[in-house]
Amino acid sequence: MTSSLLTIAALCLLYGIWTTRRLRKELTARSSAHSEALALAQHDPLTGLPNRRRLLDAFPDLTREVKSDSFRAVMMLDLDGFKPINDVYGHDFGDNLLRSFANRLAETVGNEGLVARLGGDEFAVISPIFEDKSEAAGFARRLLTRISDRFEFGERQISIGSGIGIALYPHDGYAITELLRRADIALYRAKSSGRSTYRFFEVDMDASILHRTLLEQRLRRAIEDRLVNAYYQPILDMDSGKIAGFEALARWTDTDFGMVSPTQFIPIAEDCGIISELTRHLLNDACRVAKDWPDELYLSFNLSPVQLQDPALPHQISSILAQSGFEPKRLVLEITETSLVKNPESAKRILTELTELGISIALDDFGAGHSSMSYLRDFPIKKVKIDRSFTERMLVDKQCGAIVEAILVLSKGLDIDAVAEGVEESEIHEALSSNGCHYGQGFLYAEAVDAADAADLLKLQGNGPLPFTDKTDAA
Ligand code: C2E
Ligand code: CA
Ligand code: CA
Repeated sequence: MTSSLLTIAALCLLYGIWTTRRLRKELTARSSAHSEALALAQHDPLTGLPNRRRLLDAFPDLTREVKSDSFRAVMMLDLDGFKPINDVYGHDFGDNLLRSFANRLAETVGNEGLVARLGGDEFAVISPIFEDKSEAAGFARRLLTRISDRFEFGERQISIGSGIGIALYPHDGYAITELLRRADIALYRAKSSGRSTYRFFEVDMDASILHRTLLEQRLRRAIEDRLVNAYYQPILDMDSGKIAGFEALARWTDTDFGMVSPTQFIPIAEDCGIISELTRHLLNDACRVAKDWPDELYLSFNLSPVQLQDPALPHQISSILAQSGFEPKRLVLEITETSLVKNPESAKRILTELTELGISIALDDFGAGHSSMSYLRDFPIKKVKIDRSFTERMLVDKQCGAIVEAILVLSKGLDIDAVAEGVEESEIHEALSSNGCHYGQGFLYAEAVDAADAADLLKLQGNGPLPFTDKTDAA
């Protein structure tokens, strides 16, 4: 009896120990699962960086260390043109790029600050504590330099830019959500300058961002309703004084904003991914209009840099040409040097395909951008358009004059046509003509006009060369 009691007691004891152990084990497992879940909930699975949640949670601790006369900078960054890269090279490539980008940011920021991925190609950085704004600027510059180094993935190399928008804690706000919003506004401003740069938030940026949002909504609707139209500016053959072709230029008049310049709405269309749709409509209309011009006249049409990253472009253009019945050999596509810099290989492939269709390529704003002579050799370029800033000042500024002359000599040597843009005065026309420039475009000959007026200009020249409108005569 006693022995069985002892056995029961021993069994109870053993059971007790076993359940306590099991409980403890379970608790440990649960708590590690809990911390794992917490880590997962606070980190971005692709890059391993803290996510937005973690950033919001960590911010109070990070700001507690900020003493008076010091601050932390809240920075927003995103990658230029990430979406087309992702579309063109595939999502695995895009993921690799985001991971490498994240690593570079994390390395450069170090332990004194924090880097988070907010989603997509959007990142936020909380800087170390600084005492002087110039330190924050230096920090932003270091980030930009590190980011702009080439990324290499096997055979493929890619350079990608980024902008940085900066808001300061506590100067621009106390709440992280407000600081991120303001940094984002500054980022938008940084990016609209068109190059990799940083901007600090300024109070008056708020109003302009509202304006831009409204403009974007209106533009979307205007494109859908076909209210953005092509106008046509003649390009003159200087020897004969006759119109050799027209450049199509986009025009949009909004009921409230009035006439909006393409320099304003084209970048918006690029940013919000509606440039291809706009181009399709415009090119379609322009080809139908140009088909009625005499056969020897060409149509020049502007392409945006982002479009030169799109492998589907040649197919889209060739179907527009086929539908409208406009001959490819009468189409010139104007591209800028910037569109060649970012991704030369893919640009070259697309341009070669276009030229194989019979289309010609013109290098727009020549001299104003990266101007590498090798572009003229490496890409199938048929025309260069001398940037207006040189033509306008060629008679008053020796350097501008020398640059125009050099471009003319170069184009002659390479058997490429030169078109001088922005010809406003007869004297400039004379100087260009005597220096061997064959084509000119500018207000001296005519501004861009609608399709009906372009047809009238062609009729008018049936009676002799176009009359010049010299702005210096009117003055
Ligand atoms: P761009 O391609 O360099 O076009 C020439 C610009 O110079 C046009 O401005 C034209 O009106 C202007 N211009 C022509 N002659 C003179 C002159 O003698 N003096 C002065 N001061 N200006 C002259 P616009 O139409 O405002 O276009 C500005 C820019 O917007 C264009 O520069 C081009 O980059 C872009 N753009 C216009 N239409 C389109 C389009 O359909 N697609 C794309 N992607 N970009 C476009
Ligand atoms: Ca152009
Ligand atoms: Ca131009």
